[in-house]
Amino acid sequence: MATVSIPACTNALLLDIEGTTTPITFVKDILFPYIREHLEEYLSTHWEEDECKQDVHLLKKQIEEDMRQNRSCPVHTVDQTVHTDEEKAIREVMDNVLWQMAADRKSTALKQLQGHMWRAAYSSGRIKGEVYQDVIPSIKRWRGQGLKVYIYSSGSVEAQKLLFGYSVEGDVLDLFDGHFDTSIGAKVECKSYERIAERIGCQPEEITFLTDVTREAKAAEEAGVNVVVVVRPGNMELTDDERAHYDLVTSFSQLELTGRA
Ligand SMILES: [Mg+2]
Repeated sequence: MATVSIPACTNALLLDIEGTTTPITFVKDILFPYIREHLEEYLSTHWEEDECKQDVHLLKKQIEEDMRQNRSCPVHTVDQTVHTDEEKAIREVMDNVLWQMAADRKSTALKQLQGHMWRAAYSSGRIKGEVYQDVIPSIKRWRGQGLKVYIYSSGSVEAQKLLFGYSVEGDVLDLFDGHFDTSIGAKVECKSYERIAERIGCQPEEITFLTDVTREAKAAEEAGVNVVVVVRPGNMELTDDERAHYDLVTSFSQLELTGRA
């Protein structure tokens, strides 16, 4: 198995999640289906709780906003088996949430409810964050060599912490020195990597970024960050040019830090 050297000047590793530490299918095949399958049960169980009331309130404000802007909205065809007002109200919220998800909306109201449902699912052990087998041992090895390790994902910092706090390998949050999400900027913009370097307190050249997405790799490269492209099952195919241009690994264990004690 070919190894790839991390430059000796590297002080920090910056890791993407989906397609890098974690199968690209995790969100699509585990997290989103979980919402669809457990929405009714979750709303029924937590309906009277303050947090759930706030989530529902935010969703209703979103619906009003959508109507004002004449965006298409689901037609409520409440079925005849539903009797109480609460059941009707729950059914309306469900219709809206499922419709937003089908339309791939990214509203704050939707994200907030999803976040609360995932938190409950992780903390009760119904979902575990998937991490490739080579990830945790490699991070431990790098840390032993004095490197700092950070996460940069388009998933919120809160979602990142759930994934690694309740992972298949247990709570591994203490292996990370910090988390970044798109509040620092988009992953395809070179400015984001400059800001991350500034926040970490090092030069871009001292960071090695691991990602599966070449648009992100390109942006990081433009900022002066060293880049390694991670090839995992199900990731997007690379072009011949991309294969020739980037250092590639199929496992974190192929990365070797040279020139350090
Ligand atoms: Mg990715």
